[in-house]
Amino acid sequence: MADPNAKQSENTPGKWYVDETCVPCHACMDEAPMLLKYADDEEHVYFHRQPANQEEEEAAAMAMQACPTEAIGNDG
Ligand code: SF4
Repeated sequence: MADPNAKQSENTPGKWYVDETCVPCHACMDEAPMLLKYADDEEHVYFHRQPANQEEEEAAAMAMQACPTEAIGNDG
């Protein structure tokens, strides 16, 4: 389970976040490329946007399911 006390600092404010256990492996980017981005050093990804509609909410949920390290969390 993702740790809300260890969020990547670049996450845009909102319920979805990536925590510090991101590898990164790219799996989430295949599910929600509109929401997630690589950090400048490419050592992790983060949410640069929160979902704006139901389709994007579902993409975020799929990204969370796809993450092998459970780095994606949802405070909602
Ligand atoms: S699937 Fe998880 S470990 Fe892989 S890049 Fe995305 S957040 Fe990081």
